Amino acid sequence: MEHMNQNNLIDSRTLNLYEKQEKIYTRRMDGFFQRIQLFTGWPFLFAFFITPWLTIDNRQAVLFDLVETKFYIYWITFWPQDFILLSWSLIFAAFLLFFITNLIGRVWCGYTCPQTIWTAIFTWAEQLAEGNRNQRIKLDKSNLTLNKILKKTTKHSMWICFALFTSITFVSYFYGLYEMSYDAWNLNLSSPVVFWLVFFTLATYFNAGWMREQLCKYICPYARFQSSMFDEDTLIVSYDECRGEIRGPRKKNLKPKDLGDCVDCSVCVQVCPVGIDIRDGLQYECTNCARCIDACNSVMNKMDYKKGLISYTTLSQLKGKSFTWKRPKLVGYGLAVITMLISISVLLISRPLVHLDILRDRNLLYQEVSGGYIQNSYKLNILNMSEHDNYFTLKITGLKKISIVPESEIFIQAGTAKNVAINVITDPDQLNNLITKILISATSTDNKLVAEAESRFIGPSSIQEI
Ligand code: SF4
Ligand code: SF4
Repeated sequence: MEHMNQNNLIDSRTLNLYEKQEKIYTRRMDGFFQRIQLFTGWPFLFAFFITPWLTIDNRQAVLFDLVETKFYIYWITFWPQDFILLSWSLIFAAFLLFFITNLIGRVWCGYTCPQTIWTAIFTWAEQLAEGNRNQRIKLDKSNLTLNKILKKTTKHSMWICFALFTSITFVSYFYGLYEMSYDAWNLNLSSPVVFWLVFFTLATYFNAGWMREQLCKYICPYARFQSSMFDEDTLIVSYDECRGEIRGPRKKNLKPKDLGDCVDCSVCVQVCPVGIDIRDGLQYECTNCARCIDACNSVMNKMDYKKGLISYTTLSQLKGKSFTWKRPKLVGYGLAVITMLISISVLLISRPLVHLDILRDRNLLYQEVSGGYIQNSYKLNILNMSEHDNYFTLKITGLKKISIVPESEIFIQAGTAKNVAINVITDPDQLNNLITKILISATSTDNKLVAEAESRFIGPSSIQEI
C-alpha cells in the first residue's frame, strides 16, 4: 500500500513534456508582404517547372545525368573532375545564406524556400476546396457527410495532382523529360524511375500537405542554427511591446487610457503558418514570412491606429540605437562570400576542357623491338569535356627521336572519353638514365585545348646512369 502511494505521488508530480501537435488552420490575408512573396515565389516556381522543357544543342538545358556522371547546366558541362568546383559552389551558397541571414534574417525561409512555396500552394488548394479558416475548422469538427467526403476528396485530389506534377518535373532533371515522356508513352519506364516518381509524389504530398510547418520546426537544421548568425542589427519580425501592452479589446475610436495599441484580436496568430504568437518575443519557429505584419497592419487600419505594431525591425532599433554595417559577423561573411566568388570565377574560367590520364603497362617494363629500339607501352584516357568534336595530337617531351605507334592524332567526340593504347619507341642511345621522366600532351588541332600528364620511360638495365 505504501509502495502504491509512493507511485501515485511520483505520478502526480511528473511533468508531462509531450505536447500533442495541434492542427494549424491558417487564415489567409492579403497585404504588402504577401504581394512581395508573389514576386519571389512565383518566378522560382515558374523556373522550376519550365527549365526541363528548355533545350540547348539538342540536349536538355539543365540535366543532372547521374549515370554518365555529367551535369549539364545550360552551356556548361560539369564532370567528376569538376568536383572541387561543385564543392566550392556549395560552400559559397552556404556563406551567402549566412551573409543574407545576418543582414535580413530568415528571408530565405519566408520568401523563397520550396517548403514555404509548396505549402502556400497546398493551403491555397485547401481553401479552394474547403473554404476559409472558420469553415475548415467547422468541417473538421462535423460528422462524416457526403458534402465532407466530397470536399476532402477534392482537396486530396488537387494535392496529389500537384505532387505528381512536381515529382515528374523533379525526376526529369535527372532522367531527361523527353526520354521519360517517351518511355512513359511506350509503357517502358524503368523500375528505378517509377520508384523515384512515386517517392517524390508521396514526399511532396506529405511535406506540403500534412507536415508543413513541422518540417521547419523539427527537421530543417537551418532553423536551429540560424540564431548563431544573428546579431543585434539583424532584421527580425518583432512586436512593439512598449506600444502594444497592456493589450485588450475595445471598441473602435474608444481607447481606454490604461490599454496599449494591441486589441488582442489574435489575427496575427491566426495567419501565422507555424502557429506562434509573435507577441511572446523572437522564437526559433518564426520564418520571417511577415504575414503577422500584414494582418496587424490591417487591424491597425481598421482601428485608425498607426501601422507597425508588428514590424520588421532590429534589436538595436528596439533599444533606440541606430543601424550599423560595421558588424564583425556581417563583414566576415561578406569577405568570405567575395573571396569564394573570385575563387569560383577563376576556377570556372581556367578549368581545363580536356583531361588526360596515363597508365603505364605494368606487365612489361620495356620491350626490345626490331632494329634494337626500346619500346614502352601506355594506356591513355583522353576526356574531351568541350562542346565540340576534336582531333587531338599527341606529343611527348623528355625524350629525343621517338615515334608513337599506332598514331599520334586521335578523334574524340564532344563530351566523350576515349581509351587509347600507344607504344613509344626510341633509340637506346638517346637514353641517359634507366628511368626517364616524360611528359605526354594531347593538343586539339586549334591549339585551344591542351592536357598534359607525366609518366616514365624505362630502358634496359645495361644503361649506365650519368
Ligand atoms: S510570427 Fe509572423 S513572421 Fe513569424 S512565422 Fe508567424 S506570421 Fe510569419
Ligand atoms: S494582430 Fe495586432 S492587434 Fe491583433 S492581436 Fe496581433 S498584435 Fe494585437
